[in-house]
Amino acid sequence: MNRTQKKGILQAKGARGLRVAQPTRNFFLFMQLAKQSWAQIGEYLARDDRVLLPIGATEQHGPHLGVGADYLIAERIAAEIGARTRVLVAPPLAYGMSQQHLEFAGTLSLRPQTLGAALQDILQSLYRHGFRRVLVVNGHGGNAPSLASAAAIVQNQFPALRIKAFQWWLEPAIAKLVDEALGAQQGTHASNHETAFMRAIAPDGVQPERIAPRDAPVVATGEFDSPTRFRAKYPDGVMGLAPLQADAALGQKLLEASVALGVQLVEQWL
Ligand SMILES: [Zn+2]
Repeated sequence: MNRTQKKGILQAKGARGLRVAQPTRNFFLFMQLAKQSWAQIGEYLARDDRVLLPIGATEQHGPHLGVGADYLIAERIAAEIGARTRVLVAPPLAYGMSQQHLEFAGTLSLRPQTLGAALQDILQSLYRHGFRRVLVVNGHGGNAPSLASAAAIVQNQFPALRIKAFQWWLEPAIAKLVDEALGAQQGTHASNHETAFMRAIAPDGVQPERIAPRDAPVVATGEFDSPTRFRAKYPDGVMGLAPLQADAALGQKLLEASVALGVQLVEQWL
């Protein structure tokens, strides 16, 4: 920790300025952009131009997971990366492109163009203040096209802005962990790996008693599903087998591996 960072912590603690050692857990909170004043963020920008932006969705995740799963997972991964790297974490974008899930209660979706516009506005605001390197921690696959399009548009406008996306379930190292733990029992949306992740980070958002055994492998047809067709295909909202093998220990492993990969992305800009 350098002197400027130390000063920032004392300021964050107010007039009393407690002189105590800073464990990781304190940085977990300290690195939240939402808890900083504009003056503190200005001081941060004098020494660093990196920021983490978690994005996710509020959408059905089967009968057993809270609808915030995607943004809660992204928020937690980003918070842990921020704590380890001392990089600021912007508030999560809790809404994403979830239109195919709209037949299920509680799904709150942005249209793809709305999400793209929101991301452009957030990225432009970050750039205006001096942020130049953004790691978007995305928790929801449906956001990817809007994110790619927003990044292309904003980078055309501001060539000095660098943007990376981290999507935990697409990482080969994570896929290997899931393969080893679940083999043929893995599914996709709301299935074993996502349920395990939620058991590790937000057990109060998991209702295991609502998981019903069934044999429903994902059938890839290449078709874009309308909300009604999606519901007909996946009646309880889980894509794949029932998540009967999702334990918190696997979720913790997925979290740790995700954070380690994210730290590398934040620290290494070629
Ligand atoms: Zn999800």
